[in-house]
Amino acid sequence: MTGQRPRTCAACGRGIAAREVYYRFKLVLEGEQDVLDTPGGGGGDDLAALVRQLEEGPEDVRELEEQVHWERAGVVCTACRSVVVRMLAPSSENSGPH
Ligand SMILES: [Zn+2]
Repeated sequence: MTGQRPRTCAACGRGIAAREVYYRFKLVLEGEQDVLDTPGGGGGDDLAALVRQLEEGPEDVRELEEQVHWERAGVVCTACRSVVVRMLAPSSENSGPH
């Protein structure tokens, strides 16, 4: 053992060998809302209410925080990379010639 930490794919949990190609990623999901004041409805989960709850300091602060700002970083294997790329691509119909 050289003391090198084994890498694990953040998506599928598979161990990535030292010789394998892997892809580093950083994903940030930030809650946004174009119209904050919806008259007559909307429900309780709009962003303003969420932030207000955060300021009041409820017990599950972490969960609420993750709804506003969720951030992950790590590595994925080649198989999961193609899945992620396909998932985030605008449309699979215009993917060009095969
Ligand atoms: Zn994977």
